[in-house]
Amino acid sequence: MRRPLFAGNWKLNLLKAGAIDLVSALRKGLEGEKRAEVLVCPTFTAIGAVAEAVKGSEIAVGGQDLYWQDSGAFTGEVSGPMLADLGCRYVIVGHSERRQFFGDTDETVGKKLRAAQKSGLEPIVCVGERLDERERGVMREVVGRQVDGALGGLTKDELKRLTVAYEPVWAIGTGKVASPEQAQEVHAFIRERLRGLSDETTAREVRILYGGSVNPENVRGLMEKPDVNGALVGGASLKAETFLKIVRS
Ligand code: PEP
Repeated sequence: MRRPLFAGNWKLNLLKAGAIDLVSALRKGLEGEKRAEVLVCPTFTAIGAVAEAVKGSEIAVGGQDLYWQDSGAFTGEVSGPMLADLGCRYVIVGHSERRQFFGDTDETVGKKLRAAQKSGLEPIVCVGERLDERERGVMREVVGRQVDGALGGLTKDELKRLTVAYEPVWAIGTGKVASPEQAQEVHAFIRERLRGLSDETTAREVRILYGGSVNPENVRGLMEKPDVNGALVGGASLKAETFLKIVRS
């Protein structure tokens, strides 16, 4: 059974004190929660403090990005071993904001996810089409290329140690969520693609999260779909009460 994962992507928000307050409220609200796995991804500067604040709880901590080299002359970058050293279990790779503003490509996303796994981190690999691509009817082509481009060549064992997040760019931070049917269609397509890269059993084991304007009102409909195995949540993860409602859904 795939245990649903609810991941909060805090993006470039919260100083250390605010991050500790938020995660402490989540910790309190999640006591005894066993059905879902909960992950928070703070900014790099708050990861250490948040990891300390969740010690002894079931809340996992992750990075929002990483560089594929472990160390060296790469000013400004953070590597997999550094994230693992702080207590991270996960790392997001290929978020559309990284692709749009910081030049991430399917090739570098592939390098990053391999580096993450080498450091013992579980990558959450983001894919998703832009609005113009959906309108031009090339959604499958785009998402298929992103999946194959980043995940092609991985062994079955490596595929089982990652999570995919389908995040249609037009739904991120816009309040315009994909309908459960739209999400299911693409999730099933991604799973079919994973099957093509491995086999039925492997493809079935990979968790596929939906991300893009998830909130307490729309999460239930999405989670009812068979290939939606959790959510990657941006804006709504910055308030404990809202994120808790999403997890409890
Ligand atoms: C995200 O950035 O991964 C995201 C899904 O953002 P939001 O929930 O704010 O749309």
